[in-house]
Amino acid sequence: MVETVSCLEYSAVFSKSFCAASHVKANSSDGIGAMFRTKCRYCLIGAESLGSDQYVKRSVLFKSKVCARCKRQSSRLVNGLRCISCYNRERENFLGLNKHGNKLKLVRRYYPARVTFITLTGAVREVEFKKVMTKNEARRSVELTQPDLAKILKIILLDRCPHGTRLVNASETQGTTQIN
Ligand SMILES: [Zn+2]
Repeated sequence: MVETVSCLEYSAVFSKSFCAASHVKANSSDGIGAMFRTKCRYCLIGAESLGSDQYVKRSVLFKSKVCARCKRQSSRLVNGLRCISCYNRERENFLGLNKHGNKLKLVRRYYPARVTFITLTGAVREVEFKKVMTKNEARRSVELTQPDLAKILKIILLDRCPHGTRLVNASETQGTTQIN
């Protein structure tokens, strides 16, 4: 029996070999020149059919061990996002006590973040992170976790107060709020 794949881009079922061939042709110089099946170009399903992600351009941070918050290399990231040290600071902050059981002098603020980005195949997608400190952390969180990220469009830090959702002013957040 012929192995098939469900193509989300063209909403069709193709044989795996057809999918792989389309992916290769869409990435060839002829294919690019002729705008041949542009949705096949950076497609992750195509890469899987081909058995190689040589045409998929991912962020260098993707699946790396760089903490989204402090940018330090870590042997393990909690939820694939932050290092143990940042995670512990966050827990202490939540409890209001440091590791010695003393009350914290500095209370950090964490925000839910919503990031809108374009995928490798041109779709627009939105992803949310529960606790980030800065927009740059939100950007790195997307780069670390989203396999089909092409370009970030918008990063919003949200402050969910009892009266609903409120946007946080840039001046209230720590660090730079520039989106690179
Ligand atoms: Zn960290």
